[in-house]
Amino acid sequence: TMSTSTTSTASDPRPYVPERRGILFIISAPSGTGKTTLCKQITASVPGIWHSVSYTTRQPRTGEEHGREYFFIEEKIFQDMVAKNEFMEYAHVYGNWYGTPRKALMDKMEQGIDVLLEIDVQGALQIKKKVQDAVYIFILPPSMETLRTRLQSRASDTPEEIQRRLQKVKEEVWSFREYYYIVRNDNLEQSLKELQSVFLAERLKTKRLDMHWLEQNFILEKESKPGDR
Ligand code: 5GP
Repeated sequence: TMSTSTTSTASDPRPYVPERRGILFIISAPSGTGKTTLCKQITASVPGIWHSVSYTTRQPRTGEEHGREYFFIEEKIFQDMVAKNEFMEYAHVYGNWYGTPRKALMDKMEQGIDVLLEIDVQGALQIKKKVQDAVYIFILPPSMETLRTRLQSRASDTPEEIQRRLQKVKEEVWSFREYYYIVRNDNLEQSLKELQSVFLAERLKTKRLDMHWLEQNFILEKESKPGDR
């Protein structure tokens, strides 16, 4: 299990420290893919996931809240944070800066809590150089036509902005090769199921097994070994 309590047993006075670090899940997708909705749903439906909140220099969209979707900050503050090495990764996307705060992420992972990063391809590639064992998931839109319709219904973007994003999508789709899992989002419910499967299966991988828990429960005591008298 993923307990973070500090209980110890009579036979073993060591405090219980989870050996399993949190898993880092990275989800990237072209904009308009439904990624944000899917990420919200996955965090709500799979226990033990912390959705990291990035910093950005872009303006909040209607309905977005400081500290919930992003920390909305000025460029000067962003550059200060870069200089102080406070970002795990950062990138310039569609004319704005975005960055993942390093400390919050490391703290959660050390506590054994799984972390979800919703970041662009540049950011994912930076993480790939630094973090072992992260899980890379790419979400594809069903088609360019669907994507165009979705972007147009999101009234916040100008036609030029939409055109720019669609062009970017055509290039970005090919980054799928860098990722370990691909979810094609034709249908939100189906995609959520697929994502949940990835999260659950990753947790079951042999390499993620909490060895301390295994030893505590399954090492045979001397006196109980068959054949011993
Ligand atoms: P949006 O402005 O639509 O919320 O996000 C634009 C793009 O920036 C999306 O692809 C989103 O995943 C990406 N993004 C959001 N936060 C970060 C971050 O901290 N780092 C990087 N590299 N990309 C991010």
